[in-house]
Amino acid sequence: MSFDYNLFVIGGGSGGVRAARVSAGMGAKVALAEESRMGGTCVIRGCVPKKLMVYASGFREGFVDARAYGWELGETAFDWSAFSGKLRTELDRLEGVYRGLLDGSGVEIFDQRAKLADAHTVELADGTTKTAKHILVATGGRPVRPDVPNAHLGMVSDDIFLLETLPKSILIVGGGYIACEFACILNGLGVQVTQYYRGAQILRGFDGEARGLVADMMRGQGIDLHCGTNIVEMCPPGERGGHAISGGPDMGPTEAADTADGPHDGPVWVKATNGREQTFDAVLFATGRAPNTAGLGLEDLGVALGRRGEIEVDEYSQTGVPSVYAIGDVTGRVQLTPVAIREGMAFAETVFGGRPTPVDHDLIPSAVFTQPELGTVGLTEEDAREQEPIEVYTASFRPMREAFAGRSDRVLMKLVVSKESRKVLGCHIVAPEAGELIQLAGIAVKMGATKEDFDRTVAVHPTMAEELVTMRTPVRTA
Ligand code: NDP
Repeated sequence: MSFDYNLFVIGGGSGGVRAARVSAGMGAKVALAEESRMGGTCVIRGCVPKKLMVYASGFREGFVDARAYGWELGETAFDWSAFSGKLRTELDRLEGVYRGLLDGSGVEIFDQRAKLADAHTVELADGTTKTAKHILVATGGRPVRPDVPNAHLGMVSDDIFLLETLPKSILIVGGGYIACEFACILNGLGVQVTQYYRGAQILRGFDGEARGLVADMMRGQGIDLHCGTNIVEMCPPGERGGHAISGGPDMGPTEAADTADGPHDGPVWVKATNGREQTFDAVLFATGRAPNTAGLGLEDLGVALGRRGEIEVDEYSQTGVPSVYAIGDVTGRVQLTPVAIREGMAFAETVFGGRPTPVDHDLIPSAVFTQPELGTVGLTEEDAREQEPIEVYTASFRPMREAFAGRSDRVLMKLVVSKESRKVLGCHIVAPEAGELIQLAGIAVKMGATKEDFDRTVAVHPTMAEELVTMRTPVRTA
């Protein structure tokens, strides 16, 4: 049987674009459909614009420190419209780069929605159909709002990048990556930030000590962080004390991002589980993301979906329908851009390179871009303790740069070590640029370095990270 293409990719995010390019480079005839902007969540409404906002927001403390270091500065002020205009131009440029990379690899692009018609056929929004030997679903995920009345009054992370003006005050709901990163970013940009997290401590799943320090530092910067707290009621201030707006959309947790008219503009009155009532200029829900699997024709084809709608795949990213593969956030494995890219490359190796390549999801380093950042690889102390006897090494101190500027910021360097094998099971860093540091520490941990390997490495002085190789005595064993 002959097909129009060897591979049809649905979704032009980081994973889909990489899989398409690498497959085309291996000689496959490839097409890719994207209904929105090329680049997907990471480039258009995630990692890239977020990181540029992190940089923008960091200047506030930078100006304070500069004065402490003897610089004379005049009045400083942040101009959101100047920044966001430049941000939009940069994202346009990056989208062009992605498009150019696909073109340059010979991938045919369809700027429209696509769904699966059968195991080898894709139907485009204009009604045309294309056949392919293999179909790769890389449609990513989207932010979801919680199931509270009037939830449509709150923004989701996608909306932040499109704001015309910055709110004066904002309530951020959630305690994960996105909630904590935006709390720090917006606080740095001068927005009065309140954060409600339903659990006992933010950043569930990360090392307990590291979470505690990040929370302390966020509070120290002026973020009004309340744990064990959630929204019970929200409405425009004129309707306070009442109930959900009659006729308002009844949004379930998976339908959230579809606010056709854009985000609600105007203040929101919120009542919290702790009884606190307050009006905020804006509310941001950072309450998790859901895979984009609705309306793709997957169920009709017999592709198995998990409880949250994620596509179930094996270690080669293959679904139960042999010609259909899936990579990235739509599979609900590890929701990180570099992981989606790895999965895309492993797919190409397996299907077009003739080398079956499973994806290694073990010991993935990652960073939360709070201020300071939290970098992590391997097991938390809490998880390691459950697994085997361990030693814990920590150094928590005021770094030289901040101490000189008169700030009380602390950093944390932490190693969790196996008592028996001596391997470093986990490394956790809370510090400025921890994302950069953990990338390098991640190599050693992935190689199976022991505590003694760390100790044999000569310190780079004076740095914060030198503490990673100079901690001689465990602070505790368990
Ligand atoms: P997370 O799953 O990390 O966090 C969701 C947060 O919302 C949790 O604190 C959760 O609480 C809370 N929550 C969920 N449902 C409700 C509810 N109904 N009411 C109140 N709170 C609720 O999701 P994010 O959206 O922050 O990020 C999604 C993924 O994107 C991350 O897991 C990460 O993989 C990726 N990401 C990575 C980044 C990076 O690498 N720097 C940056 C941003 C995103 P609880 O803990 O109790 O479940």
